[in-house]
Amino acid sequence: MLHHVLTVEDAQGFRNFLLNNMTYSLGRSLENSIILRSNLVSRQHATLLAVASKKSSCFFRIIDGSAEGKRSTNGILINGKKRFSHILSHGDEILFSKDTKAVYQVISAITNIPKTNSSQNQISESSYPQFNNQSFDETKPFRFSPLQAIPEQDLSTHVHKTVNQFIASPELNPQPIIELNLVGKILYLNPAALSQFPNLEEMRINHPLLQELLVQLLPLVNPVRKFFMREVIINDKVFEEIIHFMTWNEIIRIHISDVTNQKQAEAIISYQIHHDALTGLPNRKYLHEHLVETIEKLEHKQQLFAVLFLDIDRFKLINDSLGHSIGDLLLKAVSDRLKNLLKQGDVMVRWGADEFAIVAKEINSTDAVVQIAEAMIQALTLPFNCDGHELHITTCIGASIYPSHSTEVEGLIRNADMAMYRAKAEGQNSFQFYVPNMQEQSFQRLSMENNLRRALENNELLTYYQPQIDLITGKIVGLEVLLRWKHVSLGSIPPSQFIPLAEETGLITAIGTWVLRQTCLQAIAWLNMGLPPIQIGVNLSIKQLQQKDFLSCLQQILEETNLDPHFLELEITEGIMMDNVEEKIVLLNEFRQMGIQLSIDDFGTGYSALSYLKNLPIDTLKIDRIFIEYIAHNAHDRAIVASIISLSHSLDLNVIAEGVETQEQVDVLRSLGCDQIQGYFFYKALPADEIETLLRAQGITRPNRIEPA
Ligand code: C2E
Ligand code: CA
Ligand code: CA
Repeated sequence: MLHHVLTVEDAQGFRNFLLNNMTYSLGRSLENSIILRSNLVSRQHATLLAVASKKSSCFFRIIDGSAEGKRSTNGILINGKKRFSHILSHGDEILFSKDTKAVYQVISAITNIPKTNSSQNQISESSYPQFNNQSFDETKPFRFSPLQAIPEQDLSTHVHKTVNQFIASPELNPQPIIELNLVGKILYLNPAALSQFPNLEEMRINHPLLQELLVQLLPLVNPVRKFFMREVIINDKVFEEIIHFMTWNEIIRIHISDVTNQKQAEAIISYQIHHDALTGLPNRKYLHEHLVETIEKLEHKQQLFAVLFLDIDRFKLINDSLGHSIGDLLLKAVSDRLKNLLKQGDVMVRWGADEFAIVAKEINSTDAVVQIAEAMIQALTLPFNCDGHELHITTCIGASIYPSHSTEVEGLIRNADMAMYRAKAEGQNSFQFYVPNMQEQSFQRLSMENNLRRALENNELLTYYQPQIDLITGKIVGLEVLLRWKHVSLGSIPPSQFIPLAEETGLITAIGTWVLRQTCLQAIAWLNMGLPPIQIGVNLSIKQLQQKDFLSCLQQILEETNLDPHFLELEITEGIMMDNVEEKIVLLNEFRQMGIQLSIDDFGTGYSALSYLKNLPIDTLKIDRIFIEYIAHNAHDRAIVASIISLSHSLDLNVIAEGVETQEQVDVLRSLGCDQIQGYFFYKALPADEIETLLRAQGITRPNRIEPA
């Protein structure tokens, strides 16, 4: 039996949902079956649909927006990728907004949890509480949680049900109900309360269920806050108290439910979510939470701890040659050996396939960390016997130390990981500490920045042009300008490496202006050679759009070069919708009025809000390469592209598919009605003279010349 569990993490913390129904709606609105507590998510943000399958009992598909097809404002990211619709698999992470996410897990046999090993501190620390369902003594030691107010509009359906049941027939209600007045006198006990808590009548306000209740409650009540909740644990049983303060008669009514089983199920789910099934070790998620906690506790003490990352060399080889079952046995054996080396309080998690992370506490010097790492490497050099195979492995370990290498969870993990890679570079069975190389990096950046500055002056920048092909006529109908940097000694540097730097340093303004002027000059040069006019797209950085004088600069270039603006196209990414949208739309409209064409670049990688498109004065939409890559083999990507194309056409937009590399992709795109194609299948970006040859071969040359100004 498989259980599908969605763990939501939002402002309210973690919540687990066992997915038993066929559909779930998720969003901010209280009508949703799963409410996401964040103002950054849409009212109806996403929908989960169960899909029956032959192989497994069922699985879930998540779609962006409501079941009626209304998309959310900001979309959903699945494992970091924008998706409209996605079939969930175990471990998928769904991001609804920057403060709201969920993890989908498929868990087998909820009742069958691995037994915890009490000698292993890291496991017993996180193991789920054992509640005793049989014996119960209501007078035994107890503890309760702080009282939590529940705003009335947020009352969960279950609270509503509890309250309504009472109104219908308190006497028959199987849940205990107690009524108190403000001085703690019990006014009413229903039969369920009397039979389940016979000591209530005698112990009164001193009964564990009522102790401290008034003290907690009275400072909190006011005319709008009337519902509260707390948990009381008595003798390993957990009771949830829903407390209703009735203002009109000043009576406190308490509905009690035994939530022991539910708590136990939650604890089991939480255990599964935080542990790796193969080794029984905690997982990444656990490490993360554990480090947060550890750092919080240490904040004001001068105590060191280390994060070690251990990776088995060439584990993939073992897996591939001997099979996964042997690989699994080896991982278990490695984890067992390492566990034996842990000290009280240390924690080890399975970080990835063949990677383990260890938090070593209470260390007093870096030498101690070296010793731990060496002991681990040593222990793993002895051969392993896995199902008759004698296996010899080597490992590498990297470590970062709190607080010297970082005081933050992410930093400690990243630095230990980096150190591990440095160790790998050293060779088998090596260990490395993280070495702060910030200075080195910033030096590199500085020299790169200087290089880039000089590139403009030294004519090291070149414009290349990638043809765009019409899918019906097969002709080149447009070009995109792509910048190339040929550095004298460093060779060719790709735009992905220097454009971000240019943006950061502000150099993009000068570079962008240069590209625009160069493009216009080239267009005029081609026209003067008698070639047919062709539209040329220039990539614009958001930074250029923020440049105050960009418009006048553009006008000046067009005047200087005398290029008809109709042949110029500006490519903008969805990022412009991030802020000051109105201002940007005004600017785009001015480009439009000048006769310039506009396109949305890399569509699908950013905002991807199709609804936004109709507000933008654009002519063309360029579908990003990531959707084209698998279009021939992935029905899901094909469906996305089909809907982008049909929506674009309904908005009168021209559609270009980017990154087309195969005939199959061309065929699919043609069948979907895509207008144009750009990609290596036809041409890479080419220097101007090669474009000239292509254009000459293709076309009727135009006799008229336009003289440059
Ligand atoms: P982009 O605007 O998405 O440009 C398309 C990129 O995809 C180009 O990479 C192009 O060479 C590559 N490409 C085209 N067809 C294929 C294909 O079939 N397969 C694959 N794998 N790739 C293909 P490139 O030239 O490296 O440019 C990268 C990015 O740098 C551009 O992405 C653009 O964002 C930026 N960029 C390039 N030139 C400029 C410029 O003049 N100004 C600004 N602001 N950005 C530029
Ligand atoms: Ca582009
Ligand atoms: Ca693009």
